[in-house]
Amino acid sequence: MKQLRAIRGMNDLLPDQSPVWQYVESTLSELFARYGYSEIRTPYLEATQLFSRAVGEATDIVEKEMYTFDDKSGDSVTLRPEGTAGTVRAAIQNNLLIQPQRLWYFGPMFRYERPQKGRLRQFHQFGVEVFGIDGPDIDAEILIMTARLWRQLGISEHVTLQLNSLGNSASRQAYRDALVDYLSARREQLDEDSQRRLERNPLRILDSKNAQTQELLAGAPCLLDFLDEESEAHFAQLRELLDVAGVAYEINARLVRGLDYYGKTVFEWVTDSLGAQGTVCAGGRYDGLVEQMGGKPTPAVGFGLGVERLVLMLETLDALPEALDQQVDAYLVAVGEVQSAALAAAEQLRDQLPWLRLQTHMGGGSFKSQMKKADKSGADFALIIGEDEAAAGQVTVKYLRAEAPQQTVALAELPALLQG
Ligand code: ATP
Ligand code: MG
Repeated sequence: MKQLRAIRGMNDLLPDQSPVWQYVESTLSELFARYGYSEIRTPYLEATQLFSRAVGEATDIVEKEMYTFDDKSGDSVTLRPEGTAGTVRAAIQNNLLIQPQRLWYFGPMFRYERPQKGRLRQFHQFGVEVFGIDGPDIDAEILIMTARLWRQLGISEHVTLQLNSLGNSASRQAYRDALVDYLSARREQLDEDSQRRLERNPLRILDSKNAQTQELLAGAPCLLDFLDEESEAHFAQLRELLDVAGVAYEINARLVRGLDYYGKTVFEWVTDSLGAQGTVCAGGRYDGLVEQMGGKPTPAVGFGLGVERLVLMLETLDALPEALDQQVDAYLVAVGEVQSAALAAAEQLRDQLPWLRLQTHMGGGSFKSQMKKADKSGADFALIIGEDEAAAGQVTVKYLRAEAPQQTVALAELPALLQG
C-alpha cells in the first residue's frame, strides 16, 4: 500500500520540536496574564457565513484561501482561517461585551495557500482582541506588550514596528476614490493581480509585492493626507504614547491590512531574518466589526502573531534557551530483578521533589546500555538501582555532567542530595 502522508502544508510537530513550542506558548500566555488578558477558545469549525461577513468577500482569504465544505446536513462550514471573526462571534453570543474585555487566543488556522517557508496551510496564531476601549492608550498598550515580548525572547534587535492609520470609513472612501483615479489612468502599467484589485479591493494594491507596481505607487496619493480629524488626533496621540514609552516605529503610509474590517490604527512587526515572509505579527483597530456582525457598536483592537514564523526566527537567530534540549533531570537505571523497587523509588522521589523530571528505564538491558540511554536523555544524574541497592534501600547517584564522584546513599537521603 502507498504510504500515507500528511496533507501538504500541514506539519507534524515532532518531539524534538515541541519544547520550542512549549517555550513560546508559555512565554506568551504568561506575558498576557501579566497584562490582565484572559484566554478564549472558540471552535475550529464555524459557519462559512461568519467569515464571508467578518473577513470580507473581496479579500484573499475569502476569495481563494478557505477550507470550505458542506457537512452531512448540507450546511456550509469553514475551518477558521483567522481568529478574530470567531472571537467576535463568541463575545456577542455570550454577552461578554457589556464591559471591556482583554482577550487572547492560541491555535491552528487553516488557509489554502501555496506552502513555502513561513507559509503553511495549517499554521498557528496567538492573537489578542480588546473590546470596548476606543482610545489610543489601548493601541499603545498592546504594542508596548509586544515590544516586551521581543525583549523577553531576546529578538528585539531583529524586529521593527511599522505603523499607519487608515482613517474612518469616509476618509478611506475618499482616499480609495483618489487612488482609483490615479491608478485607472495607469492601468496597463499595473500587474495582473493589481488590475483585478482595482475594482474589487483597491487599497490592497498598496500591499503589492510587484516592483513595477510599487514604483507606480510612489507617485500615488498618500493615505495619511486623507485622514479625518478624529483619526488624525488618535494617530498623533498613539505616536506620542509610544515615544514616551520608548517603543520605536516607522510610519509606513502604504501599510494596509488584508482584512476589510480595519480602520484607524494598523501595524505590523516585521523582520528581515525570514526572507519573503517577514511579517511576524500584524493587527490594528476594527471599531466597525462588532456592529457589522450584529452586536452593539463596540470599539476593538487586536493582532495576530504567526507562531511558525516566530519559531523560525528564534531558530535562525539562535535565540533559544539552551536548557530546552534537556527533557529530564534524572534517569533511573534499573539493573537485575529490581522492577518493583525501581518503580517505588521513582514514585517516592516524585512525591518528594515536585520539580524533578525523572525518566525510569523500562525493558531491562545491561548496565552499559542503560547508562548510554541515561546520557542521551540529557539528564544531569543517573540514579542506579541494582540488586544490592534494592536490598539495602539505597540508590547510587552518578553525575553525568559534573566532575563529581558517584555516591551510594539511602533512598531517604536522595532528595537532599538532588536538591543541593
Ligand atoms: P501575509 O501577507 O504574509 O499573507 P496576512 O496578512 O495574510 O499575511 P494575517 O491574516 O494578518 O496575515 O495573519 C497574522 C499573522 O499570521 C501574519 O503576520 C503571519 O505571521 C501569520 N500567517 C498568516 N498566514 C500564514 C500562513 N499561511 N502560514 C504561516 N503563518 C501565517
Ligand atoms: Mg495572507
